[in-house]
Amino acid sequence: MPDRRTPLISGNWKMHLNHFEALQTVQKLSYLLDGLLDGDESAAVEVSVHPPFTDLRTVQTAIETDRMDIVLGAQHCHWEEVGAFTGEVSPAMLAKLNVAYVIAGHSERRELFAETDEMVRRKAAAILAHGMTPIVCVGETLAEREAGSTEDKVTGQVRAALEGLAADAVGGLVVAYEPIWAIGTGRTASAEDAQAVCALVRATVADGWGQQPSATLRVQYGGSVKPGNAAELMSRPDIDGALVGGASLVSEDFAAIVRASRG
Ligand code: PEP
Repeated sequence: MPDRRTPLISGNWKMHLNHFEALQTVQKLSYLLDGLLDGDESAAVEVSVHPPFTDLRTVQTAIETDRMDIVLGAQHCHWEEVGAFTGEVSPAMLAKLNVAYVIAGHSERRELFAETDEMVRRKAAAILAHGMTPIVCVGETLAEREAGSTEDKVTGQVRAALEGLAADAVGGLVVAYEPIWAIGTGRTASAEDAQAVCALVRATVADGWGQQPSATLRVQYGGSVKPGNAAELMSRPDIDGALVGGASLVSEDFAAIVRASRG
């Protein structure tokens, strides 16, 4: 069992920043994070940025040319390798750009683009098959929280997304717990509530895939994470990082969240 899971702080840029703006943003972030990511093991943090598809090649080139410690991520992909899927991008195409992490099942994709649990499951498997790591998003609506069904919703989504995966694959995954009512609203789950649901995600994995993968799986919290609340959230034992939307567009704020997440 690991002494410490390395926190992963991921910036989901959503449909923001053209490729010129993306280049400036990643360069500024790298400058602000200089010396912070390659320090001592016990304080290590991993940072990924998830630009829109049109920015990926530009950001990849910047990361590799300037040898940044930042890792490239994507926001979405299809599960098929190639074919007649107008508008889609395949996991093979992302892997070719050295993408390391791909978000699967973000609530905006589930709600606005009708992504189902089954689609998320197929995507997660395809992302893994191409050597990348899925960040599988789960979380309840406000109505579900108020009805007391958070537990059922989250455990159901975790089981459905990971169904059929081997234990060692599950142990390397990232699950992001994102209460939908906290995304982009300025409302954050309390650190206690976030910890309770992140622990539930881990317990669901222990139940279905065993203790070993549940101990290594990383569980992020997402939903209005800001420099002012990051340290408290990250201090909880089952929260292994954050998926950050709005605050990741401002390099100073995102760097402050990374700084707050160091052990
Ligand atoms: C997100 O998009 O995953 C997210 C958590 O957004 P925000 O940080 O803006 O709430």
